[in-house]
Amino acid sequence: MSEAAASTEAYTRKSRIAYFSMEIALESDIPTYSGGLGVLAGDSLRAAADIGVPMVAVSLVFRGGHFRQEIDALGRQTEHDDDWDPARCATRLHATVALEIEGRLVWVGGWLYVLSTRLDGGVPVLLLDTDLPVNDPRDRAITHTLYGGGEADRMKQEIVLGVGGIAMLQALGFKLMGYHMNEGHSAFLTLALLRRFAHAREDLRPGESPYDLPQVRELCVFTTHTPVEAAHDKFDYDMVRRLYGDVLDLGTVKLLAGEDRLNMTRLALNLSDYVNGVAKRHAEVSRQMFPGYAVHAVTNGVHASTWTSLPFAALYDQQIPGWCHEPELLARADRLPDEAVWAAHAHAKRMLIDAVRARSGKRFDPERPILGFARRMTAYKRPDLLFSDLARLRALAGERPFQIVMAGKAHPRDEAGKRLIEMLHAHMRELEADIPMAFLPDYDMALALLMVSGSDVWLNTPLRPLEASGTSGMKAAFNGVPQLSVLDGWWVEGCIEGITGWAIGEDSPTANGEDAHALYDKLEQVVLPLWYDNRPAWIAVMKGAISKNAAYFNSHRMMRRYATEAYLS
Ligand SMILES: *Cc1c(COP(=O)(O)O)cnc(C)c1O
Repeated sequence: MSEAAASTEAYTRKSRIAYFSMEIALESDIPTYSGGLGVLAGDSLRAAADIGVPMVAVSLVFRGGHFRQEIDALGRQTEHDDDWDPARCATRLHATVALEIEGRLVWVGGWLYVLSTRLDGGVPVLLLDTDLPVNDPRDRAITHTLYGGGEADRMKQEIVLGVGGIAMLQALGFKLMGYHMNEGHSAFLTLALLRRFAHAREDLRPGESPYDLPQVRELCVFTTHTPVEAAHDKFDYDMVRRLYGDVLDLGTVKLLAGEDRLNMTRLALNLSDYVNGVAKRHAEVSRQMFPGYAVHAVTNGVHASTWTSLPFAALYDQQIPGWCHEPELLARADRLPDEAVWAAHAHAKRMLIDAVRARSGKRFDPERPILGFARRMTAYKRPDLLFSDLARLRALAGERPFQIVMAGKAHPRDEAGKRLIEMLHAHMRELEADIPMAFLPDYDMALALLMVSGSDVWLNTPLRPLEASGTSGMKAAFNGVPQLSVLDGWWVEGCIEGITGWAIGEDSPTANGEDAHALYDKLEQVVLPLWYDNRPAWIAVMKGAISKNAAYFNSHRMMRRYATEAYLS
């Protein structure tokens, strides 16, 4: 028996939850993620490994990664392949399974990566791979690029993930007590399960469906991640028929996934007993989007040790031992000595300032506050809101100087997102004489940690109610960095004004212009004066972010909730 065969066998003895996600951020430089969804998946599995929730994850290998971002002086983004070699840190699975896609037989192999945070066990992650010599060249490319290609490529990836994933788990002998769909991309797994649990023809009365819907529902959990309607995959039935030859009879599929087009979210909703959104506000919005479904709320969290900078980890190790395993203990952070908190922050800030220098040539001043903003560059995140009124921004900086650091990738086909990056660069040139500002290319987990820990204020300005949760502000909280954000996503729950950070505007949808005024007002009247004029009060807010937000918005709490409310009940 090969080495890889032995290593999956160690995981097939106890019954597990299978966690399906199109992207998983396993490590910063394994390019199998594009943003918040993948980081959330990685943080969920890291927490499961820490606290011993038995899981097995399924995703695709993406040997070509997502993309590496290059930005020229004018802010134009070009994308490069981000190839990685899975043999570097994963072992080949001994099993291959066959699917029919576009009328061809497609063999699916894969890799075993073990997410391990402690000595006993870890969470096995199966990275499915169609790049096998037996396959047609068209099919070898299916698992190459994360979110690459067009609709048909996307649907093929989703067939491999959902249907191939179920087949692979079975071929490897995994015992499963449930299936968690992290976003609708993997919803084809429900059709594979319906087929598996179908009643035999001879047992059926005339007109009776062979499919045991309640049985499948009982096994499935679905987490929806976005209220952006266009982000929910919908496929034309012509394409479904052409690509997914093995699909159940179309009548049944249409009942479950929509009459006009196959809607992956509908399919997942109709075949899951437990459905949730990723923050309380997002669950409310999802209930309005999908009337008739009970949508629970499990607010996201981030993984404690992954998102705490070394200076703060050292401080917590010394003052709050056990915080990694029980981040709730950070509720005691109010007792940390002020000087120690400020020193840890100064250290993290120096690391960011060094990175800014190395990556952009810009020199930041450690004695002045840094406003940080980084996330996927896409219209609803409004990275340009801060620049709505350059004269006002300049005036603010004239009174109390600050510096700005930004980062983020735009999806290769998101033209609006790319234009935003160009606009930010134009603003940067215009403000050159007045406000030090840097845009750092190629945002990834490592850069995220530098930025959320080294900034003084973490900024978030999405268009309500489109930010389902957002997680970078939670990462900032672990590093004593307060957030200044519009009240959307997790911030509706996390913001205690002046205690954990600050709100931009009221808790109601307002026009872009009003949010910009509210942002400038809050910077001018509250945030910058506090930073400059009352350091002890500033440090109290830093500690409030840790004790009230990091202690709660962590993935240990989130995973315990999934385990008790979704997996075991
Ligand atoms: C945390 C993270 C995100 C998500 O940030 P949001 O605030 O939720 O938009 C995206 N990309 C990377 C690399 C991250 O680490």
